[in-house]
Amino acid sequence: MQSRAELEEIAHTGGKVSFEVAIDASGNVSYSVSYRHSSPTAAAMFAVYAIPQGVAVGDIKLGGIGTPWNPAPIPGCFPVFISSDITGMFGHECPSCNGYWRASYGGTICPYCAIEVGGSYQFLTQAQKRYVKQYCDLLSDALHSGQAGTHTIDMDAVAAAAGKDHEKPSFYYAEERQQNLFSCVACGANTDVLGIYAYCGCCGTRNDFQELEKVMEAIRARINGGGKLESCVKDAVAAFDSFADQYRKQLLELVPLTPARRGRFERFHFHNLQTAASGLKEVFDIDIVAGIGADDLAFITLMFHRRHVYEHKGGEADEKYIADSGDAVRLKQALRESPESAHRTVNLVLKLAKRLHLGFHEIFPPDEIPIERHKQRSRKQ
Ligand SMILES: [Zn+2]
Ligand SMILES: [Zn+2]
Repeated sequence: MQSRAELEEIAHTGGKVSFEVAIDASGNVSYSVSYRHSSPTAAAMFAVYAIPQGVAVGDIKLGGIGTPWNPAPIPGCFPVFISSDITGMFGHECPSCNGYWRASYGGTICPYCAIEVGGSYQFLTQAQKRYVKQYCDLLSDALHSGQAGTHTIDMDAVAAAAGKDHEKPSFYYAEERQQNLFSCVACGANTDVLGIYAYCGCCGTRNDFQELEKVMEAIRARINGGGKLESCVKDAVAAFDSFADQYRKQLLELVPLTPARRGRFERFHFHNLQTAASGLKEVFDIDIVAGIGADDLAFITLMFHRRHVYEHKGGEADEKYIADSGDAVRLKQALRESPESAHRTVNLVLKLAKRLHLGFHEIFPPDEIPIERHKQRSRKQ
């Protein structure tokens, strides 16, 4: 039976591609191409150049009517049209990490491993590659039939054949809640990833900060709604911890380091904020405490120590906490937060996080072109 997921990935547009084949007096075959799709869904289409054997070798930049396409990278290529899924997005697969995601067309950055490729065609999924092969076979047959006239390719039928008897990509086995369809705040592109944290597939901005903002908003609502303040502080610091760990992993992955530094960052954690901050500054020149005043810094450092007490010590001060934090509380005293201290924690966590995010992107700058385009679009609205 046809797997529904495969169909959703590349079909459902009711699209047809017509090749008008002409044969001149000396038997030379030429053709012109047109396409249409008749589905009322949010279908989009993209196109690649493929060699007649059925392997994609370049993107086709489909301009408006009358705009010529960019030339094929190799003479003799076929234009292959591929439809989006019903939401107007395309499945992508990374040739480097094998990650699978969906995105609006045009991205050249893997959301998982950040590899940048020269064209979107390099992110074709296995199903799309089979589709390209089927399509090229049909077109080759039409051109070799020796008959002039119109040959129509039904894109849905090709997609159905390409999806037959194949496993669904692992993406579709994931729980709904593990997936994150996010709109990049920097460039506006949509990317749907496995898990939560990723790079934008279009401009390469990490989404962690925009995700953290959502978490912090929810914590603020709990503070204002009479939630347990100690839990709010604990969760805010814990959220920073998970946030920072994403950047730590990416830095380890992407920055060449000496074995000693690598070892140090493999064990790196934020229990002691100021030690962690100076480590990041020293090795990566990322200053997460820049612009934070001495009072605020002392306060948030204390909250990072308290988080450990809230999480592991039932909220009661122990000797280690008193020694490490210098907090003027008695042994076994239950620590208490106020709405002010909880809000202040949220504010400062966001500040630290923003510095880390910006510092990371100073090392790995996002692609400015889609970001600039997005700014101009937003201004017009
Ligand atoms: Zn990848
Ligand atoms: Zn982006």
